[in-house]
Amino acid sequence: MNPFEATNLYIGRASKILDLGDRFERYLIEPEREVSVQVSITRDNGHVYTCRGFRVQHNNARGPYKGGLRFHPTVDIDEARTLASLMTWKTALVDVPFGGGKGGLDCDPKELSEGERERVTRKLVERIHDVIGPHADIPAPDVNTDAQVMAWIMDEYAKLHGFSPAVVTGKPVHLHGSEGREAATGRGVFFATEEYLRSTDQEISGKSFVIQGFGNVGSHAARFFHDAGGRVVAVSDVAGGLVNGDGLDVPRLIEHVAEHRGIAGFDGGDSIDRDDVLLQPCDVLIPAALGNAITDENAADIRARLIVEAANAPTTPAADEILAARGVTVIPDILANAGGVTVSYFEWVQNVQQFRWDIDRIDAELRKRMRSACSKVFEVARRREVDLRTAAFVVGLGRVAKAAVTRGIQ
Ligand code: GLU
Repeated sequence: MNPFEATNLYIGRASKILDLGDRFERYLIEPEREVSVQVSITRDNGHVYTCRGFRVQHNNARGPYKGGLRFHPTVDIDEARTLASLMTWKTALVDVPFGGGKGGLDCDPKELSEGERERVTRKLVERIHDVIGPHADIPAPDVNTDAQVMAWIMDEYAKLHGFSPAVVTGKPVHLHGSEGREAATGRGVFFATEEYLRSTDQEISGKSFVIQGFGNVGSHAARFFHDAGGRVVAVSDVAGGLVNGDGLDVPRLIEHVAEHRGIAGFDGGDSIDRDDVLLQPCDVLIPAALGNAITDENAADIRARLIVEAANAPTTPAADEILAARGVTVIPDILANAGGVTVSYFEWVQNVQQFRWDIDRIDAELRKRMRSACSKVFEVARRREVDLRTAAFVVGLGRVAKAAVTRGIQ
C-alpha cells in the first residue's frame, strides 16, 4: 500500500462513519490540482543541475491551500498528494481558515551549496508563482526547508507580484515572520501530549520520552518535555542514536547540535543504532522524522504505551493495527503536529493586518486551539468508540464536507 492509499483508507473509514457516500468520498480523496515542474540551475562549478518540483493542491473548500515545501530525495507526486491531503484534515481540525496543499523538490539539499539552494528555490517559485499567492496557496517550511528558504520565496514572488509577505509563512522573525513559529510544531506536540495525559489523569512530569528525529520539531519538543519535568531518555538523528536512562541534558544537547550539526559526539549519553531508538523502553514515543518509521516490522517491539506523531505519516496502517491490538494509543499526526500550521495562520494574519503579536499572545492562542482540537477528537473517539486517528479524520472530514456542501459543488 503506498502512502496515498494509506491516507485514503483513513478517509474511507471516516466517510463511512459520516455516511457521506461513495461519490462524495471520491471528491474528498482527489486532489484538486497537481503541478509538476522541471527545476534546472547552473551549479557553482558551471554544470547544469536538474531536479523535479511539485505542488499539489488538495482541497480549498475551507480557504486557500496551505502546507509545506520539502527538499528531499524521496519527494515525488505520490508523497506530495499524501501530505497535501493530510494538510486538508489538519487545517480543518485546528479550525484555521485554510485548505490543504504540499510540495517540494526531489533534490538532496546536503549536496547543494547555499547559493545553489537559493537558485533552486527561486526557480521553483518562477515555475509555480501563478498558482500560489496570499489568498490562493501559501507554502511554509517542511523537511529541509527553513526561514531562509521562505525569505527567498517571498522575495522571488515579490518580483513578479509586488510586495506580498503573506504568500509564505515561516519567514524569519525580522522579515515579516512570527514570534514562536519555529518552535510551534514542537510546542503543539507538547500541548497535545499534555492534553491527552490530562484527560487520563496523568501528567508530563516524571514520564519518560523517546524522540526519533532531532530536527526543528524533535529538538523543540524535547526541550518542552524536559522543561516540564519529563525525562528524555533517548533521541536519534540521521546519523545515529543516543540513550541515557536518567534523562539527557536537553539544553546542553541542543547547544551541542547547534555547534556540531548533529547529536554525534555528545558526551551525556551512550551511542546506539539509529533504528533501535524507536524500541527503547519509555512512556511516550515521539516519531519526529520522516514517514513510514513505524511499520509492521517493528510495531510489535515498540515498548511505549503512547505514541505522539510529530512527523507526518510516520505509522503505516498495518502498524496501526498491531499497535491498537496491543493497546498502544496513537495521537495522530493531523492532530499532534498541527501547531506548526496554526502559528503559520497567526503569521498570515499578522502579515495581512500589518500588526505584530507578542510571544505570549501566540502561545496562548496556540494552546487554546490545540486544546479545543484535542478535546473534540477525544470526545468523538469516546462517543463513536473509535481510535484517535479515525476520530480526527471524522472531525476533519465533517468540517470540510460541511463547507463544501454549503458553498455548493457545481
Ligand atoms: N509543514 C508543516 C506541516 O506539515 C507546516 C505547514 C504550514 O505551516 O503551512 O504541518
